[in-house]
Amino acid sequence: MPGLSRSLDHVKDSYDVIVVGSGYGGGVAASRLSRAGKRVCVLERGREVLTGEFPSRFPDLKNELQVTGKRMRTGPSSALYDVRLGEDMHVLVGCGLGGGSLVNAGVALRPDARVFADGVWPGQIAQDGLLDEGFKRAERWLKPQSDPRAATLTKYQSLVTSGKGLGYAPIAPTITVSFDGGVNAAGVDQPACTRCGDCCGGCNVGAKTSVALTYLTDAARHGAELFTHAAVRHLAKEKDGTWTVHVRRLATNGAGSQDLVLRAPVVVLGAGTLGSTEILLRSRANGLALSDRLGHRFSANGDIIAFGYGAKIPVNAVGIGHPPKLEGVEIGAAVSGQIEIDDEHDLANELRVQEGVLPSALAPVLPVLFIPNGRLLGALKSLIAGVYKGPFAHLQTFFAVSHDNATGRFVLEDDQLSLKWPTAKDEPVYRRLDEVLTSIVTEAGGSYVKNPLAGTVMGHQPATAHPLGGAGMAAECADGVVNHKGQVFDAGAGRGSTAVHEGLYVADGAVMPRSLGVNPLLTITALAERAMLHMAQDYRLSFDDAAVGGTPVAPANLGAIVAA
Ligand SMILES: Cc1cc2nc3c(=O)[nH]c(=O)nc-3n(C[C@H](O)[C@H](O)[C@H](O)COP(=O)(O)OP(=O)(O)OC[C@H]3O[C@@H](n4cnc5c(N)ncnc54)[C@H](O)[C@@H]3O)c2cc1C
Ligand code: SF4
Repeated sequence: MPGLSRSLDHVKDSYDVIVVGSGYGGGVAASRLSRAGKRVCVLERGREVLTGEFPSRFPDLKNELQVTGKRMRTGPSSALYDVRLGEDMHVLVGCGLGGGSLVNAGVALRPDARVFADGVWPGQIAQDGLLDEGFKRAERWLKPQSDPRAATLTKYQSLVTSGKGLGYAPIAPTITVSFDGGVNAAGVDQPACTRCGDCCGGCNVGAKTSVALTYLTDAARHGAELFTHAAVRHLAKEKDGTWTVHVRRLATNGAGSQDLVLRAPVVVLGAGTLGSTEILLRSRANGLALSDRLGHRFSANGDIIAFGYGAKIPVNAVGIGHPPKLEGVEIGAAVSGQIEIDDEHDLANELRVQEGVLPSALAPVLPVLFIPNGRLLGALKSLIAGVYKGPFAHLQTFFAVSHDNATGRFVLEDDQLSLKWPTAKDEPVYRRLDEVLTSIVTEAGGSYVKNPLAGTVMGHQPATAHPLGGAGMAAECADGVVNHKGQVFDAGAGRGSTAVHEGLYVADGAVMPRSLGVNPLLTITALAERAMLHMAQDYRLSFDDAAVGGTPVAPANLGAIVAA
């Protein structure tokens, strides 16, 4: 089935705007600037995966893993899960047309107001009212909602039991999932969620409101050209101010690659915290004058994934997928319940603990992960007995989010991004999380399993799926990499200068100067919407964010838009 993207054979030499990356930040930029009538090109290193094509069996999932460490790399460059093994911390990001939205849990929350009151942000963020407008637009397009039936789910009820020891009752957090179905703002007719639990494996129903089903579809409807397998290496500024974008064309069959150069007066980096920071670091190494704060202020958003094994109560937190591997069971979306631990005196102590679901394709490896000498459960019969009716029906998965000190730092080593954070494991947040999660798991009668992969190449380092920072916002070049609009500071004008490189923007997780304490997708989207509103003022552009009319398309048939 054709999708939104086209072959790089058809790419033109120049565009009005080049957007690098296609996650939340890149998607917003592509949609809004193509609505403004600009000729927009989107370059995404990963591939397009349509609804119905996400991995549902373990052998397929294995091919969706790319792992990069010091002097090692395995897996295809177009694999959906991109794991970066670090000496101090590991990072997981999504790779594909739609970025992290393809494989995330979709939890969409606004941070506590104290986050934006921190003086680390440029003052305009709190002052000009556009952040609130950015959140409103993000919410109109991603439609976060709580599962109206959350309380009926076994995994939610297990969180009720677990929270009792600490005296907390869970709530149903808002997630970017359509529970009623219907046509979204981009004109995609989304079916209702089947509560299959496979959100973090990719939604094969089309109910998860991903960037692909919203902002990217909208961009394509307004004429943007979307290309996959296109990895941007670095940028350079020509004498006339035009940006050259140096692109590596990744071979679709894994063999060989080819470089090309595209041009545009405006480039928006939306390659994510790791991608945008790496592109800027490489551009600086190639002579672009960028802030000496580039790479600094990396935060893991106090984020971990942990497990409780052997709960006395049933949990049912392994996905059944779509079509369902087991009839008559309702699991729920990847996150349906959340315990909120607030602290009105100290923001750093606030914690969000969410019960999570593992995608169905992972089911056969659970015994290997959690039972000493466990074996792969091959036959579907034993899979169902072991995972859905046996011990793994009592496995609790937790996603926890809090605050850290954002003192990690990215550098380029051998032309490759590397994260340095020797004190990461000593961050107070990890001790707090251990205490809370141990209590929660114990209350349910299980044992806390901090890291089932500790005996593997993963080791004991903390890991995060919420990387933030590296090209942080600040009032001036001495303190950060971009201003409040996402414009990149020109370090050639001096450290204390506010001068920017005309036409160069960052609009993704890289611009966060600190942890958010909640899952970051909504804030990334809101700040990108805000950056576009400023760009509209600065370049005298006109666009709205009204829902599109016309004939709706099915999530598996987005290509109909490009063909039209
Ligand atoms: C398993 C998982 C679960 C998560 N759950 C949640 C959740 O419930 N709620 C939440 O808020 N957050 C969640 N997150 C995190 C969230 O998905 C990310 O914070 C978010 O996607 C980041 O958005 P972004 O726009 O910064 O970049 P991304 O979404 O990461 O998109 C960047 C895109 O750029 C592409 N790219 C990178 N480098 C290049 C390059 N050189 N050239 C071209 N393209 C490039 C990437 O392939 C990617 O598609 C989760 C993440 C994971 C992995
Ligand atoms: S639970 Fe299933 S149907 Fe619902 S959003 Fe997640 S993957 Fe899609």
